[in-house]
Amino acid sequence: MTELRTLKVALLGCGNVGAQVARILIEDADTLAARAGAKLQLSGIAVRNVHAQRDVDLPQELFTTDADTLVKDADLVIELMGGIEPARTLILSALRNGACVVTGNKALVAQDGPTLHEEADKAGVQLSYEAAVAGAIPILRPIRDSLAGDRITRVLGIVNGTTNFILDQMDTTGAQFADALAEAQRLGYAEADPTADVEGHDAAAKAAILASLSFHTRFALENVHCEGITSVTAADIAAAKDAGFVIKLLAIAEKLNVADTETGGGEGVSVRVHPTLLPREHPLAAVHGAFNAVFIEAENAGELMFYGQGAGGTPTASAVLGDLVSAARSLVLGGPGRTETTTGQVSALPIDAAVTSYYIGLDVADQPGVLARIAQLFAEHGVSIEIMRQTIHRDAESNVESAELRIVTHRASEAALAATVEAVKGLDVINSVTSVLRVEGV
Ligand code: NAP
Repeated sequence: MTELRTLKVALLGCGNVGAQVARILIEDADTLAARAGAKLQLSGIAVRNVHAQRDVDLPQELFTTDADTLVKDADLVIELMGGIEPARTLILSALRNGACVVTGNKALVAQDGPTLHEEADKAGVQLSYEAAVAGAIPILRPIRDSLAGDRITRVLGIVNGTTNFILDQMDTTGAQFADALAEAQRLGYAEADPTADVEGHDAAAKAAILASLSFHTRFALENVHCEGITSVTAADIAAAKDAGFVIKLLAIAEKLNVADTETGGGEGVSVRVHPTLLPREHPLAAVHGAFNAVFIEAENAGELMFYGQGAGGTPTASAVLGDLVSAARSLVLGGPGRTETTTGQVSALPIDAAVTSYYIGLDVADQPGVLARIAQLFAEHGVSIEIMRQTIHRDAESNVESAELRIVTHRASEAALAATVEAVKGLDVINSVTSVLRVEGV
């Protein structure tokens, strides 16, 4: 048997994910070599503190603080440090040196993907980041490779486990947002500073990556409209539940054509992250706890769903090692082939041009003719009502009756809906607009 060649693997970072990648590289060396067609030799691990206690027992001599030198001598570089710098400079240096790069850094790829891809294309090497979106779930390669012969029309993703855990807690226990967040922090699902998760920034970075691959166009972070879950209340969740819906934070990328957009947005892709009502029978409604899932609609394949663990050291390491073996094969066989195409060139639509259904909660005076006035106002703005439900409340002290009105609309543009809500607020019979939430999957 011919001796396999050896490829040097530099690992940058040895935290939650990096430590597990190092462990698997050492423990499964023979299996990985057989699959890659080359021995994958861990040549060093760059960290900030070489003496820090690690989750895994690893040979001390592998550790270094000199990431620059480690990268220069590697065939394959795995970046698992996170953050923009020095990760960006080290990845660019690796690519310029002809090394293939595997990273899990969604923030960097979403912010500076075009520069990294340009460098990888110039050097003719592979740049891959399966771990950057939905952790262990194989989703980027299925979109890029398996669906290369199809046309994706829509992607709906639960891509942030922290927010899914919080919304799921609120749904199952009736908790308020603050209490569900505290529980997520106690169980280690949320960071001490949860801003990136609860404000939707983490999901927005993943939405930009999913949209770019799905629509063969590079979408930047600023193309993603982003709303987090901090304003979702227990009352919103209860009302949604009552109407047969569940609230999820979705990353959405969908192609809309001119006929769909009433605001002159034209054909393009709407990329957005926001709390969304889903019918309880929708496949994504069954994604509980900190799990992730991505639901894809394609012209020929129809509906597809990918489900699994969106985070965690070992699950995420699985995605990293998949990319690593694929990159090693490209080095063994010669030439990476094109990893992504950007021939789509569709424009990103502004949020006003997004088209979806809406749930609107209204607190209204209990008077005759109110429903008709509201319905007429919706019709005047071109927003058609699918469901309208009224519940009467009597205030125990004042004995005054008011009505809670819940409306679900047919698909309409954001601009039309915003104008309708503004007009509704001006009616003298409206006490307050209690919620306006987008609905998918109806
Ligand atoms: P982590 O636990 O914070 O580990 C970061 C590692 O990078 C540490 O070992 C740290 O060294 C090292 N590091 C940071 N800055 C460095 C610098 N300037 N120079 C040298 N080393 C440096 O991070 P993680 O959770 O493993 O995540 C790594 C990447 O994977 C991130 O991009 C993250 O977004 C992505 N990711 C993570 C998950 C997950 O479940 N954790 C899931 C999907 C994707 P010290 O140990 O010496 O401090």
